[in-house]
Amino acid sequence: MATKGVRGDDSFWCNCCFHDIYGPRFHCTVCNDFDLCLMCNVTAEDMHPCHDLQVVEQKHGEKPV
Ligand SMILES: [Zn+2]
Ligand SMILES: [Zn+2]
Repeated sequence: MATKGVRGDDSFWCNCCFHDIYGPRFHCTVCNDFDLCLMCNVTAEDMHPCHDLQVVEQKHGEKPV
């Protein structure tokens, strides 16, 4: 029996506070794997300058096709 060690595609965590992101996710359009939660997005200009963050709306229970 295989153990699921990888997170699902619909699970993201914040690269700043390292918590799971629920609700809007702020994904860096420059970095391939950089996301911020709503709270940390406030400080994005300080901690992640010069990169554009794109808001990705997430809904619970709905997986993107
Ligand atoms: Zn965060
Ligand atoms: Zn970036």
